[in-house]
Amino acid sequence: MKTLPTLLLVTVLLTACAAPPQQNLAPTNAVSADPATGSANPTSAGSEATSGVIASDAAALRTSDVDHTHVALGDGKLSSTAQRDYLWSCRSQSNVSPTTGFPWLNGDGTWDMTKKLTVDGSVTWTSVFNISVQGDQRVFSTNDLPSHPSGNFPINSADDAYVYDRNPNSISEQSVSFQLPANPNVAAAPSCVGGEVGIMLSGVMLFNSIDAEGHDAPAREIQDGCGGHPQQSGLYHYHNLSACLTDTSAGHSALIGYALDGFGIFGLYGEDGAELTNADLDECHGHTHVITWDGQQVNMFHYHMTNQFPYSLGCYRGTSAVNGPLGGGGGGQPPAGGPPGGGPPAQP
Ligand SMILES: [Zn+2]
Ligand SMILES: [Zn+2]
Repeated sequence: MKTLPTLLLVTVLLTACAAPPQQNLAPTNAVSADPATGSANPTSAGSEATSGVIASDAAALRTSDVDHTHVALGDGKLSSTAQRDYLWSCRSQSNVSPTTGFPWLNGDGTWDMTKKLTVDGSVTWTSVFNISVQGDQRVFSTNDLPSHPSGNFPINSADDAYVYDRNPNSISEQSVSFQLPANPNVAAAPSCVGGEVGIMLSGVMLFNSIDAEGHDAPAREIQDGCGGHPQQSGLYHYHNLSACLTDTSAGHSALIGYALDGFGIFGLYGEDGAELTNADLDECHGHTHVITWDGQQVNMFHYHMTNQFPYSLGCYRGTSAVNGPLGGGGGGQPPAGGPPGGGPPAQP
């Protein structure tokens, strides 16, 4: 019974925009099949979108009870304190209207990750990304160009995604450098997050889970097959797990990035190889157990990505967030601005 309103909605949109229907749903792992990802390990590819595409050798070792066809929309799920399933954003937002008008919305407050469109294309970039530990600091520099292919931006009018998202921005090289505590400590109390929450091992910045209006960004904005898109200053970024980051094929997920408080960000899977849900994690989207950290086995807090809003960090656990150029990011401080180059971080 949900089909009818959805079809009507599609019809209305298509009539308005005179574009072809979306027969060619791009698989979310389309780009990740590119050899440029350099991965012989398909685990992370597409696993965020549907358990059905968890590939070959990993299939027996990964389990998921998460329904990727009915993911609760995070529109307006903003909090002013640490709260599970919510984003504690340093920016206040109010009167967030529900996301509407997309065929991947189920109409019951959930969306279907497996039906989300992606931006076409496979553009390769020269990523320049360095991480080093210097004293008690972990030092990062990146041009923010992805180490994997991206889609074609601006979104081409011939792309079926154009009906829903006309992102006019081009991807451009950035100059981003900052340092984080190499061995961060848990703060007495958590703190809010700014627009940027982490940096992933593809050299790309991770933004929080909302757009400029406070909507669920992964549900509403159209990213490419690697889960990225550029904002106004050309900064390419993710809002949730990129299918193009390399994970392990069994057991606990690999380190896939660093939060801007210095703690690690890991993939979807816990120690038993099962896909984690928010209920498995604390309010900030992390937990503590023994992990491999700079080659050592350490009992340490870390964040995980999930396929449930807020998808990555809900707040910071660390004592200090980024001490860098990104214009605020947490530690209880309100954000001073957007990402390098300016502009609200979550737009589009
Ligand atoms: Zn873990
Ligand atoms: Zn965005």
